[in-house]
Amino acid sequence: MPLPYDYHMHTPLCHHAVGEPIDYAEEATKKGISEIGFSEHSPMEQDDFDEWRMYLSDINEYINKIKIAREAFPELRIKIGLEVDYIPGYESWIKHLKTLHNWDYFIGSVHYLDNKWDFDNPDKLDIWHSQDTFDVWRNYFGKLTQAAQSGLFHTIGHPDLCKKFAIYPKQETISLWLPFLNAVKENNIAIELNTAGNYKKCKEIYPHPEILKHAAKMDIPLSFASDAHAPNEVGRDWNLAVKLAKECGFKQFCAFDQGERSLLPLD
Ligand code: ZN
Ligand code: FE
Ligand code: FE
Repeated sequence: MPLPYDYHMHTPLCHHAVGEPIDYAEEATKKGISEIGFSEHSPMEQDDFDEWRMYLSDINEYINKIKIAREAFPELRIKIGLEVDYIPGYESWIKHLKTLHNWDYFIGSVHYLDNKWDFDNPDKLDIWHSQDTFDVWRNYFGKLTQAAQSGLFHTIGHPDLCKKFAIYPKQETISLWLPFLNAVKENNIAIELNTAGNYKKCKEIYPHPEILKHAAKMDIPLSFASDAHAPNEVGRDWNLAVKLAKECGFKQFCAFDQGERSLLPLD
């Protein structure tokens, strides 16, 4: 039985990751992962939208770097996608991005809660403290629900990123994330189990086990993600990830190929 495929990793083209795709491929091979996929932070129309994404003019270089990795590791299957920022109003831009390459998948991620606030940016923590926490979480899951409803994505990235800094509301949050899972189900897309959360202040895989349990009960497909920003992070905590997924009721993991999803048994 294969290990789950790691479908979330970055390259230096986003200006905050290190190592070439060929190095990520080597690490995957070492860890016994037979398929990986790159998901660089999607370009915006203006390269200066922020300082943590790929430039539009670098897409060919992105594709080329992956080609080099494929040639060096022919046994490893390497998919190519994007981690796309979902911001309401940018739907036509995202549709345009789709036309630029034969992508295997798009991960829809919410990092922006308004056009200026990338709420997971540690430099902008002061904004968190100036707002009601439950309002921030509601805003986050509202945007995430819209992302799921947009029909633009194959899977939804780190689907409770709002816990990153361990700033939790006092209230129950199921009323926020259950509508999100319903939207995922209705639109027949997947969610991500993302191990990077273990290395953030929240010290917990994204999303919370309760969310995973509900998703498994609803038969929502699960994709696996290390969110590697360095080669040694590929497949990080993979044993923990598989254990957690199984404990929460998942029996399969997702594969994507040119936009088509298939399911493989988790073992
Ligand atoms: Zn990143
Ligand atoms: Fe992300
Ligand atoms: Fe990422």
